[in-house]
Amino acid sequence: MALWRPVRALSLALLLACRAALAQPQVTVVERQSFSGDELGVPEGYTHRMRLAVVLLDGGGWTRGQAMVAVLQASPILGQCGVAFENVDFHVIEVPASHLDFSTPAARELARAYSVPRPAVYLVRDTKSRPAFEAEAVGRGNSASRPEIADTVWITAGVRDPGVALAHELAHVLLDSGEHSEDEGNLMRDETSQRNRRLSAAQCARLLEKGKANGLLK
Ligand SMILES: [Zn+2]
Repeated sequence: MALWRPVRALSLALLLACRAALAQPQVTVVERQSFSGDELGVPEGYTHRMRLAVVLLDGGGWTRGQAMVAVLQASPILGQCGVAFENVDFHVIEVPASHLDFSTPAARELARAYSVPRPAVYLVRDTKSRPAFEAEAVGRGNSASRPEIADTVWITAGVRDPGVALAHELAHVLLDSGEHSEDEGNLMRDETSQRNRRLSAAQCARLLEKGKANGLLK
């Protein structure tokens, strides 16, 4: 009993500290718009469907048009594996300046304050991560300490080839793997480029299996 009390007091103190650390940013919804797969051009012969949420941070440098173009370019790339967008839901939200850039704490707070179904893509201004990646993916394997942002992708406004980057990061999430490929022209080469769009049969098989197992594909 003498031991139990201080331990309990300590864990309660830790719990309160964790709660206090996650602030609740003020989020205002500016616009919501939903597009069906038919409107976006469904790839022929698809076998799996994905509902995608795209969260655009107002004032972060992304326009609605750029977001749409990125989705339209990513669609045929994922279509190679038989994945079609069933629906893409765009959310334009206003957040405090402190939450316009990606960092794990800011992303966790934002995802808590404004929750959307997964997989979700957040179009942010910049990143505070070092090394600074133009885009980051958070799957199951790298989200144990930040469960709020599992199955999300964060793409900065300065990204090169936004459509390829979106497909690349979504593939990381669906594959639940941070692995890169060295194959010529492969989407999962570590450098994103218009030339790198291909997915191998083995990558597709894993992507469909993992994506379905994790509830990200139907
Ligand atoms: Zn990558």
